[in-house]
Amino acid sequence: MPASGFVSLIGAGPGDPGLLTLRGAEALASADVVVYDYLANPALLAHSPSDAEHIYVGKKAGYHTLSQEEINALLVQRGLAGQRVARLKGGDPFVFGRGGEEALALVEAGVPLEVVPGITSAVAAPAYAGIPVTHRGLASSFAVITGHEDPNKEETALDWSRLATGVDTLVFLMGVGNLPQIVEQLVAHGRPADTPVALVRWGTMPDQQTVTGTLANITERVEAAGLRPPAVTVIGAVAELRKDLHWFEDRPLFGQRVLVTRTRQQASALSTRLRALGAEAIELPTIEIAPPEQWAP
Ligand code: SAH
Repeated sequence: MPASGFVSLIGAGPGDPGLLTLRGAEALASADVVVYDYLANPALLAHSPSDAEHIYVGKKAGYHTLSQEEINALLVQRGLAGQRVARLKGGDPFVFGRGGEEALALVEAGVPLEVVPGITSAVAAPAYAGIPVTHRGLASSFAVITGHEDPNKEETALDWSRLATGVDTLVFLMGVGNLPQIVEQLVAHGRPADTPVALVRWGTMPDQQTVTGTLANITERVEAAGLRPPAVTVIGAVAELRKDLHWFEDRPLFGQRVLVTRTRQQASALSTRLRALGAEAIELPTIEIAPPEQWAP
């Protein structure tokens, strides 16, 4: 195996391209190939060299994508071929991202790797909706739980009775589809029906959307709002704090998409300013500054 083969498992953060770590940006900047998924913001590809190969591997439902085994094999194959691979995964690679499986496949194949943690949506999406997952006097603990599992199936890996009452703030990822069952289990296992709940869709992004309620009415409200995945579900007294702490959706350009047509060199200053005002800045340089073919005599 050539010595240079190396895979970085990089947390892309929750969506806002400013929430990538400096280490993640460095690893992208030295990549020969970037392997990225649905929840990793494609704007981050701009950190990679202009001749780097970009491979989209999913996993949005309904689109052709690679299976987890195929992704593992792809990373191993590129690593063994001596390439520097940036494997960009939404949020943190080790929080429900199957990053552990990718790391194990690389270790088994003898491919050197590093893990660059990322900001998980489990904390960032609530934060952008004005919800701290812990708060003095309201929540001294939080748990991040998969909502992908149908809680009514016979063999559940989750201990509902302990989760319902043993942890102050519950954050469910991948839980939109199973929301009615999650609510039902929590209430059945002793969580009061008036417990505040918030669902945050596309947290940290310009199209962030939040629906709030209580365990008693959240299912109805989410249905009425037509809220679709991806969203995090925050359950606990802290969800009430949003009333006072909402900040992101209040920015003047929140929800706006702005195309920045300046040269690549000039674009980032304008994009940074636009993002600070709440807009999504999409860089599409249509201008290039170059010396004339011939200087005037
Ligand atoms: N590793 C990721 C989670 C992967 S599981 C992380 O640390 O964030 C995929 C789930 O993450 C989605 O179903 C959704 O529940 C959540 N998610 C990821 N990005 C999100 C975002 N920007 N807003 C809301 N939920 C998000």
